[in-house]
Amino acid sequence: MKVDVLVIGGGSAGLAAAVTASRAGMKTVMVERHGMAGGMGTASLVHTFCGLYFIDGDEARHANPGLPEEFADRMEMATGAGPVKMGRVWVLPQHPVEFARIADEMLRESGVQVLFHSDVISLEPGWRAKVACRGEIREIEAGAVIDASGDAVGAAMLGLPDDRVAADRLQRPAYVSGIQGVVGELEGLALSGRLVEGVRSGDLPKSSLGMHFRSSGRSGEVFGTLDLSGEETGGYDPTDPACLSALEESGRTVTNAVLGYLRKHQEGWGMAYVSHWPARAGVRESRRYRGEVILTGAEILAGERCKDEVALATWPLELRETNRGPKLRYPEGGKASGIPSGALRVAGVDGLYVAGRCISCDHEAQASIRVMGTCFATGQAVGRMVARTGAGFG
Ligand SMILES: Cc1cc2nc3c(=O)[nH]c(=O)nc-3n(C[C@H](O)[C@H](O)[C@H](O)COP(=O)(O)OP(=O)(O)OC[C@H]3O[C@@H](n4cnc5c(N)ncnc54)[C@H](O)[C@@H]3O)c2cc1C
Repeated sequence: MKVDVLVIGGGSAGLAAAVTASRAGMKTVMVERHGMAGGMGTASLVHTFCGLYFIDGDEARHANPGLPEEFADRMEMATGAGPVKMGRVWVLPQHPVEFARIADEMLRESGVQVLFHSDVISLEPGWRAKVACRGEIREIEAGAVIDASGDAVGAAMLGLPDDRVAADRLQRPAYVSGIQGVVGELEGLALSGRLVEGVRSGDLPKSSLGMHFRSSGRSGEVFGTLDLSGEETGGYDPTDPACLSALEESGRTVTNAVLGYLRKHQEGWGMAYVSHWPARAGVRESRRYRGEVILTGAEILAGERCKDEVALATWPLELRETNRGPKLRYPEGGKASGIPSGALRVAGVDGLYVAGRCISCDHEAQASIRVMGTCFATGQAVGRMVARTGAGFG
């Protein structure tokens, strides 16, 4: 198969990149391992869009017009829920079921060729990729490649230098499950208190304290998020399959124990059950590319703008280096900062671009730019950049 643009991964960033490139007339293929687009927003059941809006203000104002705003509008239509202010930031509740459906619509409407159930397994400059689907390997030739894999898989396959902090500083993973059958209002404080009692009495493991709940907005349905320390795995490494397997198992075991306990001890939870496990545990941070420019947390905190900015970062640094909740650091005056085009171009490699949570930035900046609103924005930006170069076969 010959295309102008190959997009690796169909998460928030890959979806935005593929739709944007295709709308601009580029023959585009998006290769995605799972059977649906959305990445963490579907496969890992992450259920809130952050980073769509400017910080502060009496109303939610979009920071990145175009596809991020269009996606948010379609989500609002689907769920009937608008932006919600939490402290200084505005967020948009999203439902993973709607995310997958809206993504299908946008991919179809824009003419992207989609290869689900397919894994990019090798990449050669020029560009040639090998894609595996159920034992068969196909080749794709592309004028340009956009790596939106979240894990910078292209850097690993090409042997490029990548950036990654030491395991003990990586943002911690989490396991999000869908739960149904909850009756009445969700009482966050009462639930936390119940989990503390369960741990004190020895009925629950200590890691249960990392669990919190949020209503999905649908009757009787909540999402349970279990923040994990990574130590469940004997040393956290988000690119090691043994570690990832231990995370999955641990997420299910602890969530199951918590549900069993709440069914017995919490009013309204007597009939609650896990209705869906995520397709995979949520990984917040792994490899990052080294681009022409490395965006830093200090620049985001200073609200710095740049001449060649292609998107805006508007989420605070949300550091989750432990499983005891986030540490938020806000930019000066709540200012937005510019994401330079050089952070989306891989240093020294023509025709290789990156979008989403593995763009070129330091660990602190990643704690801001990894949110889905900003991933839509860097995906859109890179789709436009590739279309402007006109690189391709067409
Ligand atoms: C527990 C948790 C809670 C979070 N909470 C929030 C929140 O409340 N709000 C928010 O906005 N953000 C939140 N985030 C962050 C956000 O969800 C992610 O950073 C964001 O979704 C990343 O998008 P992405 O497109 O860069 O990568 P991903 O969503 O990881 O998508 C990458 C895609 O690439 C595919 N892929 C990878 N390698 C290959 C390959 N070789 N071949 C084919 N396909 C491949 C994967 O299957 C995946 O679908 C959270 C993250 C986690 C883990």
